[in-house]
Amino acid sequence: MDLGALLREIVQELEAERGCGEVARYIPPLARVDPRQFGMALVECDGTCHVAGDAMTRFSIQSISKVFSLTLAMQHVRDDLWLRVGREPSGTRFNSLVQLEHERGIPRNPFINAGALVVTDMILECLADAKQTLLDLVRQLSGAMDAAFAEDVAQEEAATGHINRAMAWFMKGLGNLKGDPDAVLDAYFHHCSLSLSCLELARAGLYLARRGNALDGTCVLSPRATQRINAMMLTCGAYDAVGDFAYRVGLPAKSGVGGGILAVLPGHYSVCVWSPGLDAAGNSMLGIRALERLTERTGLSVF
Ligand code: GLN
Repeated sequence: MDLGALLREIVQELEAERGCGEVARYIPPLARVDPRQFGMALVECDGTCHVAGDAMTRFSIQSISKVFSLTLAMQHVRDDLWLRVGREPSGTRFNSLVQLEHERGIPRNPFINAGALVVTDMILECLADAKQTLLDLVRQLSGAMDAAFAEDVAQEEAATGHINRAMAWFMKGLGNLKGDPDAVLDAYFHHCSLSLSCLELARAGLYLARRGNALDGTCVLSPRATQRINAMMLTCGAYDAVGDFAYRVGLPAKSGVGGGILAVLPGHYSVCVWSPGLDAAGNSMLGIRALERLTERTGLSVF
């Protein structure tokens, strides 16, 4: 099947729906983004790339960065990773404090904010510079050596991230955050602020489709650890709409409030879609529609 033609067809078919959904408005740099943008990039396991629409425009990857911080944690953290964060879908909003209190400061999974804060705390413990290490990993995997944190986004997140701050300090109070909560928040906000295009992000995520091996042959993770990240993405990667996402798309994926979704079909491809308008759960509305068509037309999903 000509996947490039399929991508272009999907973007063309959804042309009239550009701009649907609500752009994230909690910080000005995200609120200012043109909601009509829509891009798609797919990279096959042999490295063949296909793009359509605004696939080369960089956007704020936001929560998709949680995949890369979990990857660093699985590379470097030994025993206590899964003692400090769970592996179950949250069924609540990604920044729920109620659930965190109820579960005594052990976040449900690494892809909700509290879980990513704990993961960030763990990588800060074992890496000299967790911000730079994540940036280096993404640069190496995507080939985008000029990829960078958007300082304005990180600063705005810090200025308005009161709920994240509350969660970090709450977990510090319960002993599940070991380091300085402000340092954890600073690294977390920077990771979220990373800007990448669909093509760069699809390239960066290709190791998830290649049993942990990057295109240049580097072993990022073992095949087993890679299966586990994909399992987390399938069950926890689309906030509290994962069931609907699995039903409609059927791929392990991680979404972000910047409107990006990174998804993989292990053994076949990684794909990234981006359109800033979100649905009520915080997932890109057009992005899900595009991925739904992709798995429908190819007849392939993890199921
Ligand atoms: N930076 C955002 C936050 O921490 C990321 C949330 C997201 O993409 N779900 O609230």
